[in-house]
Amino acid sequence: MSKEEEKQRRQTLDQVLEDVQLDQQLAEIKHKIIVLSGKGGVGKSTVSANLALSLALAGKEVGLLDIDFHGPSIPKLMGLEGKRAGIEADRIVPITFAGKLKVMSLGLLLQGEDDAVIWRGPMKMGAIKQLIKDVAWGRLDYLIVDSPPGTGDEPLSIVQLLKNPTGAVVVTQPQDLSTADVRRSIVFCRQLKLPVLGVIENMSGFVCPKCGETVDIFKSGGGESMAEKMNVPFLGRIPIEPAIVAGGDSGEPFVYFRGKSETAIKFTQMAEKLIHSIEDKADDDDKEADSKKEEKEPMAESVCRYAVPTANGELCLHFGHCDQFAIIDVDLNTKQVVQSQLQTPPPHEPGVLPKWLHSQNVHIILAGGMGQRAQSLFTQNGIQVVVGATAGKPEDIVLAHVRGALATGENICDH
Ligand code: ADP
Repeated sequence: MSKEEEKQRRQTLDQVLEDVQLDQQLAEIKHKIIVLSGKGGVGKSTVSANLALSLALAGKEVGLLDIDFHGPSIPKLMGLEGKRAGIEADRIVPITFAGKLKVMSLGLLLQGEDDAVIWRGPMKMGAIKQLIKDVAWGRLDYLIVDSPPGTGDEPLSIVQLLKNPTGAVVVTQPQDLSTADVRRSIVFCRQLKLPVLGVIENMSGFVCPKCGETVDIFKSGGGESMAEKMNVPFLGRIPIEPAIVAGGDSGEPFVYFRGKSETAIKFTQMAEKLIHSIEDKADDDDKEADSKKEEKEPMAESVCRYAVPTANGELCLHFGHCDQFAIIDVDLNTKQVVQSQLQTPPPHEPGVLPKWLHSQNVHIILAGGMGQRAQSLFTQNGIQVVVGATAGKPEDIVLAHVRGALATGENICDH
């Protein structure tokens, strides 16, 4: 094996290991909610923090993850500025707010508060992955993710990394320009098949502290009518509340320190609405899954699942011509096969095999030859492709790959 091939093999295995660890972490988190807004300054972080706390105060196990690279504001809002997350057993320990809410933010990892970090695309993706995979979140009922504003790379990365997020909460202000922005956020969710759990209209009217009358400084109700037009749930309105600004500045999150106020009660009601809509649906989904008895067994950490196309029990050089696939689990630590079985694929049609192998939780397909298009279909389904295997029993080929001893020839099929 050449140096280049060996490097590629290591990268493939490292990536698989990372994906397995990410999957395991995600499996511990029941509901993942991404908080989005069309633009900055509409109160997305404020809503994320107060909603997360409301869920925690309702007795749920909750994590709050801030992935705003350019201005992580959650530490300030939660009074955690200056704190630094520790490391225990190779994992980052989130900071717990008032014994109730686990908080993680890039701001808790940087050395100094004014550290300027120039984040390039791939670094951001890697950092977001680490903030999920390498943080000791433990078992959570809810993970609330405060995403950067807009519909750019970072919200997209987080939707992809969370694999199957429960949905998005979209924060808007009542005036028209902002609702046009938020319409884009809803379209973004639809394109990614991410359910919109609800729209929150923030800074909606001002309750006069002297007379108690509500003054609509911006035109109120824009968020609600937009939600209705776009057929998404409306979760509620939060007025402009001077105590929210003061609490944000002093690091005393509003719903915790002013829990009895009318505005805090609105947050509590929104959290309850969310819990009902999510958990009722999850119960229904569980019943449906039970009735189909399709529960997948969780895979042990460090186990990598290979697929090898076979004919008569041996590697079939043309993956499209095989009659069965050997599905082989290997422990990457011990480099031993822990399970091996033959599976018959559904009838071959373009795009069917990658989806089928993805549903079988396969990480790597090891083949003799495969065209570029088929390779990219596998990659899109999260399956790494290794081509150029020449001959042999599937278990031997897989073990040779794991141990770095697989001799690969030319990709025999390149169309
Ligand atoms: P974003 O995350 O969308 O950029 P922030 O949550 O950081 O917005 O809020 C921007 C500013 O608006 C902060 O100073 C915050 O305290 C203030 N703010 C947010 N929501 C309200 C509200 N309902 N009433 C008053 N001020 C608010």
